[in-house]
Amino acid sequence: MAEGRVIKALSGFYYVDTGREVLTCRARGKFRKEGVSPLVGDRVTVRELGGGEGFLETIQPRRSAFTRPAVANIDQLVVIASGAIPKTDPFLIDRVASIAALKDCGVVVVLNKCDLDSADDLYHIYTASGFPTVRVSAETGEGLEELVPLIAGKFSAFTGNSGVGKSSILNALDPEFHLQVGDVSQALGRGRHTTRHVELFRLKCGAEVVDSPGFSSFETEELNLELKEHLPETFVEFRPYLDRCRFTGCSHTKEAGCAVLEALAEGKIQPSRHQSYLRLYEELKPLQAWQEKKK
Ligand code: GDP
Ligand code: ZN
Repeated sequence: MAEGRVIKALSGFYYVDTGREVLTCRARGKFRKEGVSPLVGDRVTVRELGGGEGFLETIQPRRSAFTRPAVANIDQLVVIASGAIPKTDPFLIDRVASIAALKDCGVVVVLNKCDLDSADDLYHIYTASGFPTVRVSAETGEGLEELVPLIAGKFSAFTGNSGVGKSSILNALDPEFHLQVGDVSQALGRGRHTTRHVELFRLKCGAEVVDSPGFSSFETEELNLELKEHLPETFVEFRPYLDRCRFTGCSHTKEAGCAVLEALAEGKIQPSRHQSYLRLYEELKPLQAWQEKKK
């Protein structure tokens, strides 16, 4: 038996890095029966079969798991956004940040294409809200030296809408990272989607990364009842105020004596962050109604 880490999942095969070699593995049928499938980032034990092949026997408990990207045990989500086309709606960043916070996963905000637009609004919102935020240009290389220390030695999932420059940034960080770079202009400002399978890459700066599809794929599975129940805490900068509201069970949407609304009025919480909170609050509301109907 050998211990290792799944670094790639493709068509029913799992590529497990044991530190000595990468074994091509099939997984036990048991996993499928139990409804779990190995994910990139999983720590696993494998039975070696010789000839570079193995059989994946057990999956160690996960620190966190995401469905899209299908990845386990990541330290942080690196959210790529852009002030230039395609301009990023802060709500998309906030939704991802909220899901990440629920899973105790860090968030780094990267504002790309700063050669075209310095994204001052987004920069202000996210620095003021306490997120590590950097402005970069994959085109000129500007700012990348600030990004490197935020990702070195960590396992990150890069996420962001198609066309914001995920592949370009990864290529700029490490030219070995050959990902097809889509042409945003050809697709009318909605860059082509080029990511095919899930794979962990080690960049020369010591960062481990997976590239993942756009923000929209987070929507369905992750916007669940658990997120609804913990929504206020997932807006990390709201936390100091949450137990100071006049009424217990305050929804922080319109109540008198709400400490979150007071902090908002005093400029301690960014308006767009609270707007995103309200929007998520409304989106998650039907989940409760559905749950109550079932009782
Ligand atoms: P992805 O879909 O997020 O992986 O985005 P790509 O890396 O494919 O980039 C989409 C388009 O934006 C391509 O045409 C890139 O050349 C362009 N692009 C990426 N980063 C920058 C940047 O920092 N500045 C400029 N001007 N263009 C960029
Ligand atoms: Zn409140």
